[in-house]
Amino acid sequence: MNDILAEEATKQLSSLKAASILNNECFDCTLKNPQWCSVNLGLYLCLDCAGKHRQYGVTISFVRSLSLDSWNTKYINSMAQGGNHKAKEFFTKHGALKDNKVNYHDPVVLRYKAHLKALVDKAHPDTTLVQKTSPPVDALDQMLLQAKKEENREEKKEIQTVQPKATTRTVTFNNKNNSKSSYY
Ligand SMILES: [Zn+2]
Repeated sequence: MNDILAEEATKQLSSLKAASILNNECFDCTLKNPQWCSVNLGLYLCLDCAGKHRQYGVTISFVRSLSLDSWNTKYINSMAQGGNHKAKEFFTKHGALKDNKVNYHDPVVLRYKAHLKALVDKAHPDTTLVQKTSPPVDALDQMLLQAKKEENREEKKEIQTVQPKATTRTVTFNNKNNSKSSYY
């Protein structure tokens, strides 16, 4: 992989982001100043939406942090070829965007991914955009892992403090028929 200096990557990414006003809001929820990307879809995302993209899986969306992950020239080129504006146009035109929400399971999304990949491959024929093997642990993995740990800690606390309520159950026996017989 053509790893480039982190400093250089940051410089290139911030100028790409600044190139379009739409790149300065999350593609999915329009939150300002997104710090995450879907590399293979060329999208800028906020942390929450990046987390959702992670759940779609790398076959749909490959998530990187703009500042915390390492970037190579091919990833950067994907962002250069893509961008929020271009994706919005494509998804709108082909019906994957309804009420400003993208259905990422729509085949149109995979078509766009392939379209973007073809453009990037032209410039970088020797490398694959997304590794076929499971992706390395990256910044989002670490953050999600940390969040999960904290969640577990919270749950444990709750278990310790919440006392189980005693449940009383009233059982009424119907003794009408056998009450007499037991005395005789
Ligand atoms: Zn968002």
